[in-house]
Amino acid sequence: MDPRIASPVAPLLAGATALSPGLVRVVAPNPSPLTLDGTNSYVVFGADRRAIVVDPGPVAASHLELLEAVVESEGVKVVAVVTTHSHPDHSEALELAGELFSVPAVRAAELLIGAQAGLLGSLLTAVPTPGHSSDHVCYLTSGGVLLTGDHVLGRGTTAVLYPDGNLTDYLASLARVDEIGFSLLAPGHGPALEAGIARATLRYYREHRFERLEQVMAVVEEEPASIETIVAAIYGPLPDPLLAGAAAASTLASLNYLGERGDLVEEGGSYRSGPR
Ligand SMILES: [Zn+2]
Repeated sequence: MDPRIASPVAPLLAGATALSPGLVRVVAPNPSPLTLDGTNSYVVFGADRRAIVVDPGPVAASHLELLEAVVESEGVKVVAVVTTHSHPDHSEALELAGELFSVPAVRAAELLIGAQAGLLGSLLTAVPTPGHSSDHVCYLTSGGVLLTGDHVLGRGTTAVLYPDGNLTDYLASLARVDEIGFSLLAPGHGPALEAGIARATLRYYREHRFERLEQVMAVVEEEPASIETIVAAIYGPLPDPLLAGAAAASTLASLNYLGERGDLVEEGGSYRSGPR
């Protein structure tokens, strides 16, 4: 059961909110079924007034203007713009934001290969968290806040988007985050999660994945089934094409996970249990 259901948070409106010393969240005006309240961009800064913008978000003039206004009102100097991963709702404005602040604009994948790692200085530590996408990175601020991008969301669960996303990696990345001593999770969509509810949410995310795997096995154990049949059996009707696409990609991630373990096999587009 989702531990956040007991204390629902009102939808975040586009705008800027200080979450903790040295951390301002700026919500982009792109709410949708997949982006929830909109993408959260973050301005992270230290006592030396150096700042990094994480996930500049979609290209929207009002959003970039607000990021600029936050930087100005906090009296900080942006030294880099980075992303948690390359999905467009997080990264589309990367180059524009780099130009706006005249600083390097660096994708998560580039930070991981090390050449650009020095850019983060002592402000942020990159934590590789592949799964939702292969290039996903979380960032731990020097103040103990973990910026989780799409790895953990403020509401609902995240999609593991096969083939770029991988469920084995995702589960390992959930465990990795749980080993970190954070005070707050600040996700890429939806409200921030205090440590207690965040830990419970990490457990729920893990259980939710295994529940989905059991649901897939229950369908294919009955009779061989196509991906469409399996998605319909698990999710029911999904009139929103974006949600339907995410559900199909997440189900393919489950099928891939179960296939790798020999729990099911695919033949001509049909999945059945076995041979193990
Ligand atoms: Zn994403």
